[in-house]
Amino acid sequence: MKSIKEIRDETFERLGLKEENSGVFYGKWEKYDPEKSIEVRSPIDGTYLGKVSVASPEQYRNAVVKMEKEFVEWSETPAPQRSLAIKAIADGIKEKKELLGRIVSLEVGKVTTEGQGEIQEMIDVGYFATGLGRQIYGLTMASERPYHRLYEQYIPLGVIGVISAFNFPSSVWSWNAFIAATVGDTVLWKPSSKAALSSVAVMRVIEDIMVKESIPGIFALVNGRGREIGELMAEDKALPLISFTGSVKTGKHLAEKVASRLGKTILELGGNNCAIVSEKADMKVALKGVAFGALATAGQRCTSTRRVIVHEKIYNEFREKLKNIYEKAKTGNPLEDGIIVGPMIDDDAVSNYEKAIAKAVDQGGRVVTGNKVLERKKGYYVQPTIIEARYGMQITKEETFAPILYMFKYSTMEEAMKIHNDVPQGLSSAMFTTDLREEEYFLSARGSDCGLANINTSTAGAEIGGAFGGEKDTGGGRESGSDSWKLYMRRQTVTKNYGKDIPLAQGVQFKIE
Ligand code: NAD
Repeated sequence: MKSIKEIRDETFERLGLKEENSGVFYGKWEKYDPEKSIEVRSPIDGTYLGKVSVASPEQYRNAVVKMEKEFVEWSETPAPQRSLAIKAIADGIKEKKELLGRIVSLEVGKVTTEGQGEIQEMIDVGYFATGLGRQIYGLTMASERPYHRLYEQYIPLGVIGVISAFNFPSSVWSWNAFIAATVGDTVLWKPSSKAALSSVAVMRVIEDIMVKESIPGIFALVNGRGREIGELMAEDKALPLISFTGSVKTGKHLAEKVASRLGKTILELGGNNCAIVSEKADMKVALKGVAFGALATAGQRCTSTRRVIVHEKIYNEFREKLKNIYEKAKTGNPLEDGIIVGPMIDDDAVSNYEKAIAKAVDQGGRVVTGNKVLERKKGYYVQPTIIEARYGMQITKEETFAPILYMFKYSTMEEAMKIHNDVPQGLSSAMFTTDLREEEYFLSARGSDCGLANINTSTAGAEIGGAFGGEKDTGGGRESGSDSWKLYMRRQTVTKNYGKDIPLAQGVQFKIE
């Protein structure tokens, strides 16, 4: 196995990355500024990967102005033509999939298959957007007035601000950017400071494709700290919509700021996702679904399974089988074959893991397996942990971004749903059962209160074709597939009179000489 440094050197060379990279792009790359840069180290073993410079307030402003200029022509370009540009970008990303996926693994520690999956998601959204280019439609309504036509049309919003989280360093941007660009917007992206390198790699690849295919410069990248560039974006009236992905705490703060200027937001915030395992579940399917949901990305997915509620009749059997899977799942270098659980993003994440377990025990939880920090100097590794919990324990209502799974026992569906829904967040949910009635209960108004409901599959790992997002503290946003495109446009109701008089609605009379 090559060292992380060797893998980095080879990947950098093939992607044209340098040790010191500008993190600011708007048609051209700003000069690298050593005074204002982020140092990137791999969570795999602490290897130094390089530096990325951040945007000054002036560079931020220049990027916004450039996106405003590009919007004028781009929004006038027919949508089917715009969507072919996105197709060309998706084709180009496909050629670089392996390399881009490796950068994601090096920078945020995803196991190889998940790093590759992240880039596949970009390609998938690109192809979804290609079809969307011919499916932007509005309704036509029957007018109550003679010789009148009443319909709605969708008009692009302008420059869309995208602020993304560290754990999906490229795909979440593409969910927004490819859909927004197809409907005629331009896009300004502020990635997480913990994932600056992935953003530069993506933008370098896209820049090459844009030059080759003569695509206008509709995407800008402004790396920077949340409290600097993120705050500027929140306050900036030039951005009619901010699509924000991140924690509930930061999302609430941002939403208040954007709302105070009556801007729009798409909020994709934290989850506290739960799976219910019925006595009528297929045990093998349920075990695999819960284990994948809880262990993938070392519990650092917004959709990670954080709670499992198991029917009392199979509770002990399920717990022992799951424990066995956990104890066999290999933790380590995510680029090595056979590794299931990679590193945590940083030392703070390890501390949060420790604190959450201590609180859970303090509140009456019992550790079934795990509860050990494996490494925190050369990379950040923890043992995935299962904790038997009781309904009402405060820590189980919080999102800890770590591989910790709380187990509950239930006897009736009513009880299971009560435990399931009694948390502030509402992103993803799952029910494992072969009973149609239980399934339909779970999917009814008395059932899951989440934006995503899964039957016999994991809370994690959504497809791009559906609208992605959650309820309650998760923020209510929807992104990616279905009709999420509407959020990147404004709806205009058009009334046209082609008669020789001007009849008024509701029969109102207006008599003038
Ligand atoms: P975070 O909230 O710390 O940061 C998210 C982004 O907000 C980053 O780009 C950060 O720089 C920026 N930011 C920080 N302060 C800001 C401010 N004052 N104004 C504007 N922007 C600011 O989140 P994180 O640790 O990067 O990601 C993990 C969180 O994201 C988890 O809670 C996870 O559930 C959530 N998440 C949600 C989804 C979803 O689709 N619902 C997807 C991925 C991650």
